[in-house]
Amino acid sequence: MSFSLAIVGRPNVGKSTLFNRLVGRRLALVDDQPGVTRDLREGEAKLGDLRFTVIDTAGLEEETGDSLPARMRRLTERAVDMADVCLFVIDGRAGVMPADEVFAEILRKRAKHVILAVNKAEGSAAEPGVLESYSLGLGEPLRISAEHGVGMDEIYSALLPLS
Ligand code: GDP
Ligand code: MG
Repeated sequence: MSFSLAIVGRPNVGKSTLFNRLVGRRLALVDDQPGVTRDLREGEAKLGDLRFTVIDTAGLEEETGDSLPARMRRLTERAVDMADVCLFVIDGRAGVMPADEVFAEILRKRAKHVILAVNKAEGSAAEPGVLESYSLGLGEPLRISAEHGVGMDEIYSALLPLS
């Protein structure tokens, strides 16, 4: 059975990089500026023998630090409601930020299944962020690097029982 996966998280954590890796074509815009991708974007993902729909979320706003802009929240809630599974991405190098906690709360309340992924975890710079991420109350995090293709097998293993 096929399923849909929403990639959610605050701007600049690497959601579109992961989307592009899973979809294999550059359907989502990736940029160094936070919040460049402008909408929800869907693609057909391939991971090992799994095929599923993947949804990339984005928002127009710059990050403000302690609050989550309304549009970003609305887009995320829409993606969460559409998806069977949410992959919640945080930036392991930045650590857990206030906006991450807001997303975690939305996901705990709303999502059917949540997989927590700590991105930018190539090398050891993300290790403090990995430890912090347990405080989000979403279980054990996967260490991934969307840019370098690290941890894709872990995502596969997490998705397999849900497929
Ligand atoms: P989004 O706003 O969450 O969609 O994030 P993007 O995919 O646009 O990525 C934001 C920035 O993080 C870009 O400069 C990416 O090159 C960078 N990035 C994404 N994944 C990784 C990763 O695994 N490691 C590192 N070091 N940088 C990454
Ligand atoms: Mg993006």
